[in-house]
Amino acid sequence: MAEKREQLYEGKAKRVYRTDRPGLYLVDYKDDATAFNGAKKGSIQNKGVLNNLISAVFFRLLEEKGIPTHFVEQVSDREMLVKALDIIKVEVVVRNIVAGSLSKRLGVPEGKVLTEPILEFYYKDDDLGDPMINDYHIRALGLATPAQMNRITELSLKVNKILLEYLADKNIDLVDFKLEFGVHGGELVLGDEISPDNCRFWDKVTHEKLDKDRFRRDLGKVEEAYEEIYRRLTGKSM
Ligand code: UDP
Repeated sequence: MAEKREQLYEGKAKRVYRTDRPGLYLVDYKDDATAFNGAKKGSIQNKGVLNNLISAVFFRLLEEKGIPTHFVEQVSDREMLVKALDIIKVEVVVRNIVAGSLSKRLGVPEGKVLTEPILEFYYKDDDLGDPMINDYHIRALGLATPAQMNRITELSLKVNKILLEYLADKNIDLVDFKLEFGVHGGELVLGDEISPDNCRFWDKVTHEKLDKDRFRRDLGKVEEAYEEIYRRLTGKSM
């Protein structure tokens, strides 16, 4: 166990606290929801609890399959203990099915199944609205080294394979998701969260959206969607 100390940072969906254990932080998942780079604000009842539990399931699965993550242990309903990371300011989006910004940008209909995964990189900067960048920007601006980018690419594609296979079994299509990485003790590890906030999950048969798009697009049944993901992953209901 670790004792909670002072708050270090408050983001849109999480707070991060120092602990009495050097190199370990406590992440506290909030119910606050934002979309469109903070322009739309709201709250999703129990989202913090569900995202903490859902992320813990995914991090345990990935660790089991050899992916290094920041996850140490689940501490409470809303809190997990994680390794402190030097965050790499590159967000990675992996796509299997066309949706969201890709559909808008290239005029490809949502739902088109891609023949292979697409990897995209975005500069992690809220004030700029996370603009898309490529390998050249990343190298020339020193956001990450080529060795780090090779590892990030390798890990992102492995995570995609593991999650696709795991979720197929739960009757869920993994449409796309966003990952963040950082460095802890010289090792590159997966950070942030893996939840309906930063993944698109569709029911395999009905294509019903079971993720934050229900909030972004005012589709209703937002809490229910997060609960349904939790239920399919764990067999338990909240
Ligand atoms: N995403 C995210 N944070 C962001 C942008 C995107 O977690 O700041 C996730 C989003 O939930 C989706 C995937 O990344 O699962 C691809 O998002 P997209 O580029 O389509 O952007 P959106 O349509 O959400 O604006």
